[in-house]
Amino acid sequence: MELIIATRNKGKIREIEEALSMPGLRLLNFEDFDEFPEPEETGATLEENALIKARAVAERFGSPALADDSGLLVDRLGGRPGVSSSRYAGPEGDPERNMDRLLSELEGVPAAARTARFACVIALVIPGGEERLAHGECEGVILEERRGSGGFGYDPVFLPAGFERSMAELTLEEKNAISHRGKALRAMRQFLEHEGGQVLQ
Ligand code: IMP
Repeated sequence: MELIIATRNKGKIREIEEALSMPGLRLLNFEDFDEFPEPEETGATLEENALIKARAVAERFGSPALADDSGLLVDRLGGRPGVSSSRYAGPEGDPERNMDRLLSELEGVPAAARTARFACVIALVIPGGEERLAHGECEGVILEERRGSGGFGYDPVFLPAGFERSMAELTLEEKNAISHRGKALRAMRQFLEHEGGQVLQ
C-alpha cells in the first residue's frame, strides 16, 4: 500500500513517518516527486485546510494522500494564532519570528494565565473515494523563553501539561506519545490497520 504525505514540512514528515510506520505501508513525500502541489490554505478551519492539501495531492498523483493541518491556540489570545500559526509574524512563515511575536504578546502574563493547546487534524483522501479525518489535541502552557532545539515550530516555547521539559526537549518518540499529531495519527493508524486493505492499493 502507498500513501503520499501531503506536506513539505520536514518536522511533520518525521513525526508522521514515526507514527505510521507499519508493515506493508510505503510512505512517500514531496522528495519523491519533481513537482508537488502547494495549494493555498484558504479554509477557515484546520479540517478544511487539511482536506484542501490532501485532495490536491490525491488529485495530482491519483494516489491516496494524507495531510496535516495544525495550530497553536492560546487562551489569553482568544485562540490565536490558531489556523494562522505558521504565518503568525508574516507570510514567510519564520518560526523564530512567530515565537518572538507570541512571547512579546504574552509579556508580563503570569504562568497560570499562559494556558494553550496544540490541535491537529489529519485528513486521508482516496482519489474518487473515501475521505477521513482524525483529530488530536495537546494541552500545555507557553513558557517565558525558548527551551530546547528538537521538534519544530513553537515547540521550544510550549511546556506540555505534566512535563518539566518543553516540547523541543522531548525525543521524537516522547513527543509523538503525547502530542496532538501523535494522537490524531494513532486514530488514523487504527483506521488504516482495520480498513486500509480495502481503501488503499
Ligand atoms: P500548517 O502547515 O498550516 O498546518 O501550520 C501549522 C503550524 O502550526 C506550524 O507551522 C507551527 O507553527 C504550528 N505547529 C503545528 N504543530 C506543531 C508542533 O507539533 N510543534 C510546534 N508547532 C506546531
